[in-house]
Parts: sequence; structure tokens; C-alpha cells
Amino acid sequence: MAYGDIRDAFVAAKNFATGANDLQLKSVLLDLQDMVFELQDENRMLREENHSLKNEKILESELYKEGMVWRRVGNEYRYCPKCYGKDNKLIVCDEYNNSDFGHGYQCPVCYSSFQI
Ligand SMILES: [Zn+2]
Repeated sequence: MAYGDIRDAFVAAKNFATGANDLQLKSVLLDLQDMVFELQDENRMLREENHSLKNEKILESELYKEGMVWRRVGNEYRYCPKCYGKDNKLIVCDEYNNSDFGHGYQCPVCYSSFQI
């Protein structure tokens, strides 16, 4: 059953109540209609949250640790472990390789460095 069907049923019932001049019934139907709208909003939010959690789960299954940084199956990027641990965000680290600091990766967001 879709929310649209419920909404149509309320509209039909409300029109009937108006025809019968039953103000109490019309008031109850309006309250019920508001409740359905609230449930519809809650349902939408839960669907979005569920979608997001599924995506996170897929992403987690593709991640693996290499030394201190995170890697993802299918690309060559190194991701910052601090940013992923804090916000679940994959931030691609910049590679550096010089005589002063050696070879490693630095996060462009939190500026943490990870030598390899
Ligand atoms: Zn970071």
C-alpha cells in the first residue's frame, strides 16, 4: 500500500464528511491525515538513512589498511586514517618524497603525515 492511496482515501472520506456536514468526523480525519504525513516524513528519513548505511557497508568492505593509511580496492589512492576515523570521510593524501622528510603521505585536510 502506498502513501498516495492512503491520502486519496482521506480526501474521499473528508469530502464525504463535508457532504454530511459532520464537523467532528472531518476534524478527526484531518488529525489522521497529519499523522500519515508525519509517518511519511519519518519513512522517507529512515529510507535515506538505510541507503546511507548500506553505502557505508559496501565502502567498508572495499577498504583495507596498508601501514597507517587506508586503501580502497580498485585505485591507487592513500586515504587519511585520522579523517576516516573521525568523520568516516575518505580524504586522499598527497604523496611527498624529498630528502628532508623522506617518502610518505600528507592529508590536505588535517595535515597529518604518514611516512612509509
Ligand atoms: Zn586527515
